Amino acid sequence: MSSSSVLTSIALESLPKLTSGKVRDLYDIDDKTLLFVTTDRISAYDVIMGNGVPSKGAVLTQLSAHWFKVLSDRIPGLKTHFLTLQPPAGLSAADKAVVHGRSMQVRKLKVFPVEVIVRGYITGSAWNEYKKEGTVHGLPMPTGLQQCSKFPKAIYTPSTKAELGEHDENISPEQAAKILGDKYASRIEELALKVYNTAAEYAAERGIIIADTKFEFGLDEETDDIVLIDEVLTPDSSRFWPADEYEVGRDQNSFDKQFLRNWLTSEGLKGKDGVEMPADIADATSARYLDAFKRLTGKTLDEALNELR
Ligand code: ATP
Ligand code: MG
Repeated sequence: MSSSSVLTSIALESLPKLTSGKVRDLYDIDDKTLLFVTTDRISAYDVIMGNGVPSKGAVLTQLSAHWFKVLSDRIPGLKTHFLTLQPPAGLSAADKAVVHGRSMQVRKLKVFPVEVIVRGYITGSAWNEYKKEGTVHGLPMPTGLQQCSKFPKAIYTPSTKAELGEHDENISPEQAAKILGDKYASRIEELALKVYNTAAEYAAERGIIIADTKFEFGLDEETDDIVLIDEVLTPDSSRFWPADEYEVGRDQNSFDKQFLRNWLTSEGLKGKDGVEMPADIADATSARYLDAFKRLTGKTLDEALNELR
């Protein structure tokens, strides 16, 4: 429910914690299954804020689940790590209340150590590189692109997957292939572009431009299948722009963390660990996440959560 508390730190009593990322805590259900729990933590400029964003964990979980369903319907043969939004049997009542709405069971897989970024529009670090070098992740680009121009075709622009506290680094598809191995690199590129293009078309029907997004893929070692894992197509992993306000040559008003980033920059707090956001910044950020959820799924978060009961 929307009234549930804002949680930045979670410790379940009935499952062992495997690991924590910047936003998620992963719990072991069994050899093959994880409970993927999304907290309300928010990171910006690679550091985590001291307080959380109301409803964020539930929005990211429910939106990812929505996308797994849409993408599986539209892409024949797509494999994802998603199993169910229901908690595992044997979870205590207290734990069930904590994870309600913010958790999903997923298949535990070997993660390919590359951030699989796909860009449909030029912005962020890609725009900065293009202005200086005329390239994007080292790839040659047409001349005359403006800020936030649409690329003629979406491009695969991987980055390294940095350890906690380190920064991801943009790399070329060739460098990524060295990390991924030739056997998998082109399959991952092709799949990522297909998922992006399918999602971009779906979002466009709902008035949202997916400017760029980051996927992660895992390997099913038994079948050699490449599997779409992690969160997918959320405001944390993507830049969403309202289509009706889109204009080339300037920054876009987006549904992502731009609002928080702008505040951090203006306060001189960029990149500082544990910064406390004032309530109005946290609430305004929450409102954007909820708005993106509603536009993409056609439901309010409360409606989605009520369906779980
Ligand atoms: P950020 O997303 O801000 O970069 P992060 O990547 O450190 O943060 P989280 O998103 O908080 O991490 O946690 C998710 C972690 O779970 C990631 O390390 C991701 O690679 C991993 N992961 C996702 N899906 C699976 C899966 N099916 N099996 C094993 N690990 C997974
Ligand atoms: Mg992540």
